[in-house]
Amino acid sequence: MMRRPTCDLPRPAFRAIALGTCCLLAACMAAAQPATQPHSLPAGTDPDPAAQRRICFPATSPTKAPATYRRDGIILWTDAPVDGEALVKHLEEVQSHLEAMFRPGQPASASRPTTEASPRPVALAVYARAPDYDQFWQRVAAHYNGRFGAITTEGFSYRVFCATSYDTPEKFARRRALLCHEFAHVWLFQNRGLRNDGNWLTEGIATAVQLHFFPESGDRADFARWMETGQMLPLKRLMDLARIDLKHYWQAGTLVELLLLRYREKLPAVVSAFNEGRSAYAIVTAVLETDMPTLQRQWAEHVRAAEPPR
Ligand SMILES: [Zn+2]
Repeated sequence: MMRRPTCDLPRPAFRAIALGTCCLLAACMAAAQPATQPHSLPAGTDPDPAAQRRICFPATSPTKAPATYRRDGIILWTDAPVDGEALVKHLEEVQSHLEAMFRPGQPASASRPTTEASPRPVALAVYARAPDYDQFWQRVAAHYNGRFGAITTEGFSYRVFCATSYDTPEKFARRRALLCHEFAHVWLFQNRGLRNDGNWLTEGIATAVQLHFFPESGDRADFARWMETGQMLPLKRLMDLARIDLKHYWQAGTLVELLLLRYREKLPAVVSAFNEGRSAYAIVTAVLETDMPTLQRQWAEHVRAAEPPR
């Protein structure tokens, strides 16, 4: 089955609507617009880098030829006035952070050992203008013989691709947190086989990574208040859902933070168990070797502390 794509920051119009309807939603920076699933079955496979380049910037595109920035595991194409070198340098730090999460016993700042394989690449496109970003996702859908609904989010990721648009310096400054979040989704898909369909684990890791690099994008006092006022789900419920709602991304992010604080060495096994389709109960008892009430209490303490993990 073609997997459903995610996510993320709603465009201003959507956010404006959200502001009037739900305080949690309004404050949720890593929010998903729900109706962007491709509908038909895929026939294609993931494109190679040359084909990725053609999908991102076709030769017939009216946009100017893009600048290309490559690092190990990262390919960025952009026609926007961004500092591409600075952007890929930042994404290398995000990549290192993700890699270290899955390297038990290593600090988050540890770099990749020479014995570790090179990462499978994440393909990024940053468009100067939003309409080109919209058309890009249509080409991605066509490649996979699928169809997205209207993509109404300022950043998005699907399988090997993630993208955003520049539009103005102010907008792009805000979207950098989003691009970091989307990069994490694709890295997890490419390097850990974690599907990018809005499940709690991919959203939790992507949101935790976003909070690490862009702590200003979430308000921890709000998270604690939402928890105390019953606006977050029991963890068992959160972890049982096939696809979590955008308003619960922060909750998933703080749960992943707790896993990194107290169960860090078990994170690779959590992802493996999730990929094998094991239940939330099995992940908590057999992998984390605890029980749901204990995990719930530890998570509540973490959220109540309203402090970022060290
Ligand atoms: Zn996401």
